[in-house]
Amino acid sequence: KRATLSLDDYVEGVLSGDRGRLARAISLVESINPDHQKLAQDLLVRLAPHGGKAHRIGITGVPGVGKSTFIEKFGTLLIEKGHKVAVLAVDPSSSRSGGSILGDKTRMETLANNPQAYIRPSPSSGRLGGVTRTTRETMLVMEAAGYDVVLVETVGAGQNETVVADMTDFFLVLMLPGAGDELQGIKKGVLELADLIAVNKCEGDNERQADMARQHYANALHIMTPSSPNWRPPVLKISGLTGIGLAELWDRIADHQRIFSESGELEAVRRSQRIKWMWSLIEDKLLDAMKHHPDVQARLPQISADVESGAVTVPLAVLDLLKMFGLDVGLAG
Ligand code: GDP
Repeated sequence: KRATLSLDDYVEGVLSGDRGRLARAISLVESINPDHQKLAQDLLVRLAPHGGKAHRIGITGVPGVGKSTFIEKFGTLLIEKGHKVAVLAVDPSSSRSGGSILGDKTRMETLANNPQAYIRPSPSSGRLGGVTRTTRETMLVMEAAGYDVVLVETVGAGQNETVVADMTDFFLVLMLPGAGDELQGIKKGVLELADLIAVNKCEGDNERQADMARQHYANALHIMTPSSPNWRPPVLKISGLTGIGLAELWDRIADHQRIFSESGELEAVRRSQRIKWMWSLIEDKLLDAMKHHPDVQARLPQISADVESGAVTVPLAVLDLLKMFGLDVGLAG
């Protein structure tokens, strides 16, 4: 059995970059044990002055687009440039499949074995909200440990792209080169989130298709209103396999960071991200508390049956349930 660590042990371990203690600090943050959660919050308060200094980069793309190959190559390049790189994954599907499809260490073996890199697989339990909570907090722990680039990976599915965009400074979308109908599979939503689109696998025979794809995405972005007057999302051709375009990609990310720091947008975005996070946690906690309230639980079967049959209107059923939970709200508003 491992010796219990005190709060000071955790703080010193993380700040000194001790990998063993870092791993235990992250496990503490991910723990669902209430005592651990309390200690984790104390730890985060202590670490807060040392965090927030990293480039936070979200990365998305469909399975097979080459995310892990890219992260392995890109992460290694950044380490050669003197950075310390952390890799995290937001993988809501893991709660269903039981196993994580992202953050699997064997996929990024070179990077995982590099002492300047730290790859943390996504926690394999909990709802999306729960996974997100720990990802954000894990990111803060990593930053305090000196990782100055944090890559947050997710698959392009469901709401997880928005979730990752809401916790990062820069959102990178990886796309595949392909003929003609590139745009069909692409939701407009992800283009709105993108700070840069990288057409991946742009080496050898793929070059011509890559040029076409690049043009398509450039056109698609052109007709959209940019989220900042100071940034037009570029479209680059890269290859995670050969490393083509990766140095330029980093230059653009660094440009973005500099421009957004100077304009004050970086801090403004992070502030509003914290407020969004607060409200999403309020939603989670309220919903949870309501669902577990004994009076609500006792009446829920009957009310549900009445709603299903149409015997009671949905607004009245909601009022009724909220009242049992202790909230007396009116129909209006
Ligand atoms: P992920 O599912 O997005 O993490 O994708 P992977 O990194 O596992 O890559 C999926 C497949 O695409 C693998 O067979 C890779 O070898 C291949 N692949 C990844 N990057 C490239 C690339 O830049 N060029 C080419 N030609 N193949 C690549």
